Amino acid sequence: MKRKVLILICCLMAVCVGVQAQKSSKLGPMPSDVSVVYFCSEITPENILKLYDALNVTLSPEVKVGLKVHFGEKGNQNFLNPELLHPLVDKVHPTFVETNVLYVSDRRFTKSHIALAKEHGFTFAPIDILDDEGETIYPGDDNFQFCKTVRTGDHFENYDYYIIYSHFKGHGSSGFGGAIKNVGMGMASPGGKMAIHANNYPKVRTPDKCFQCNRCASQCPAVAISVDDNGPVIDTTKCIGCAKCIAECPLKLFTPDNSGYDETRFLDKLVEYTKVLKDHRPMAFINVMANISTTCDCSAKAPKPFMRDIGAVASLDIVAIDQACQDLTSMAYGCEHVFKDVNHVSGMEQLQYAEKLGMGHTKYILIDVATGKQITLDEAVKQTEPKK
Ligand code: SF4
Ligand code: SF4
Repeated sequence: MKRKVLILICCLMAVCVGVQAQKSSKLGPMPSDVSVVYFCSEITPENILKLYDALNVTLSPEVKVGLKVHFGEKGNQNFLNPELLHPLVDKVHPTFVETNVLYVSDRRFTKSHIALAKEHGFTFAPIDILDDEGETIYPGDDNFQFCKTVRTGDHFENYDYYIIYSHFKGHGSSGFGGAIKNVGMGMASPGGKMAIHANNYPKVRTPDKCFQCNRCASQCPAVAISVDDNGPVIDTTKCIGCAKCIAECPLKLFTPDNSGYDETRFLDKLVEYTKVLKDHRPMAFINVMANISTTCDCSAKAPKPFMRDIGAVASLDIVAIDQACQDLTSMAYGCEHVFKDVNHVSGMEQLQYAEKLGMGHTKYILIDVATGKQITLDEAVKQTEPKK
């Protein structure tokens, strides 16, 4: 326990050193409400490592690093090529970490999830599905609007430091998915995912199809399900919202209850989850703007990318990195909010609420990792234009 606390303190100090390094060095004095985002226009394995190195995070060998990735749904063609991570993995020796999803797919169950990850090329580091053995539940902050609790996998605490590696692209409900979504939703347990989506309890659809195998009732940890001739009934006074029944029913009769869905509420819950997890473990962020489609890598058949690749960025500020990606992609697309244009949801509430909660800044400067010099958004976007 003492060792864990010591490592955690060292990690926090490493982040502070990183922040100091970002705010001083050649850049001169910076206002306290401006963060640094490092940029490269060419997405290569070497540049992903360069971006990480630019953050100046020093981790001693005994620090256990979780590298949060997305393995891509079966059939998805847009998820990031794992080969981009090779040099970073060789340097940091992390474990690839993910969580099981809420809906029923190969990514719902640890064994098939890991098999799919390997099929997709994530073979060169160990893999850990954080919720494999259950959940850890943290209290929400007093000033939160929605989340009294935050549910992640109980392996979350096994890592001292997280590198959050995110594919920046569109998402139907959140406008875009970047670092905030990769932490808030991507590190939530299935029960946490259900709570963020709308309701803490599942619902039963077509109960008349139930053939009374009783599997849901026997697997429910809260003894909240009874099954009779009319099908299963959930006692919501007992249900703890673990979402296990959704996975267990062979007929998939249980489903998340999205009846209370509201776009702003969804985005705010996402941010609240992210804040709690980020407060519990130090994190660094790398976003890659490649294969930018309107939907996320959870889609088995994602639409083709609708715009060109715009490079990759890194920062210690989760708000600044997503803001920079939104600005760069919008500028390249020629509008103010690209995902409002293509998804009818700008997703900006994520950034505004996260800044209000003190998670980072929407103001930032962009540093080109190739030169170490500050560049404008316009200059960065021009680097990504196809050569004539
Ligand atoms: S969500 Fe969990 S606790 Fe609630 S009914 Fe389903 S299995 Fe039981
Ligand atoms: S697991 Fe599905 S089919 Fe079996 S009793 Fe429960 S609801 Fe009915």
